[in-house]
Amino acid sequence: MARYAYVNGRYVDHREASVHIEDRGYQLADGVYEVVGVRDGRLIDEAPHIDRLDRSLRELRISWPVSRAALAFIMRELMRRNRLRDGLIYMQVTRGVARRDHAFPTVPVKPALVLTTKNSKRAEADPGPGIAVKSQPDIRWERCDIKTVALLPNVLAKQAARESGAYEAWLVDTDGCVTEGASTNAWIVTQDGELVTRQTDNGILAGITRHTLKLLCNALQLKFVERPFSLAEAKKAREAFITSATSFVTPVVKIDGQTVADGKVGPTARRLREEYVRFAAAGEAVT
Ligand code: PLP
Repeated sequence: MARYAYVNGRYVDHREASVHIEDRGYQLADGVYEVVGVRDGRLIDEAPHIDRLDRSLRELRISWPVSRAALAFIMRELMRRNRLRDGLIYMQVTRGVARRDHAFPTVPVKPALVLTTKNSKRAEADPGPGIAVKSQPDIRWERCDIKTVALLPNVLAKQAARESGAYEAWLVDTDGCVTEGASTNAWIVTQDGELVTRQTDNGILAGITRHTLKLLCNALQLKFVERPFSLAEAKKAREAFITSATSFVTPVVKIDGQTVADGKVGPTARRLREEYVRFAAAGEAVT
């Protein structure tokens, strides 16, 4: 079956899809992206993802390449063409194609829009054995709240983690606190049973999964706190886990080679994953 990509107004064979060499995303990382999970052919948390895309675009003063309604249509059309049931939709908007210069183009340029899809195995409610994470210094810029395609520090951190046998990198700031993962948000459950994740500001990406989980925690009457937590505190935690549109809720059982508690998946992460999978399958917003 042919796999399609959407590139600037056309659905094209994925193998032949390409963009111009002077696309500012390619040359200067002057662009933003979004990833929306798909389950049973339905988009998970579509509206908040598109709201975040809108915010990222506004922060960088890139205009919308198509209307919001058109984007919703394109997403569905690409899913239909690619028979996407479970996986994700990736969308990227760059400032467009212009003669290379750091400053914004002085002539009107149309922003470039690319969408692709990726199939994956349907996420199970069972979390499996959990993952290992490796700490890495957070060397990113001061606008991590914008979902830009400038991901080199994240790429290097993830690679260091993978080379050490860990699945994810946990980024640590100069105060010794975990900000987030290379492509996920980071959570711990303290010995007092409090769920802790870092507050959202310009230091991290405000994860959509993180936000939905926060609502689920409230609905379940779990103690939820947004504050910085140190790497040392994480290593002494009762449980730890990561969240993202693609990993859902995935337990962390090892940090820098040291087991979290007894090294087994804990009840809170297990429960929250089950709840999140139920939410994703229902295809409705948590209120
Ligand atoms: N933090 C970073 C740096 C990310 O790249 C991502 C997802 O790509 C997340 C957190 C999780 O965000 P979401 O739950 O919206 O996927």
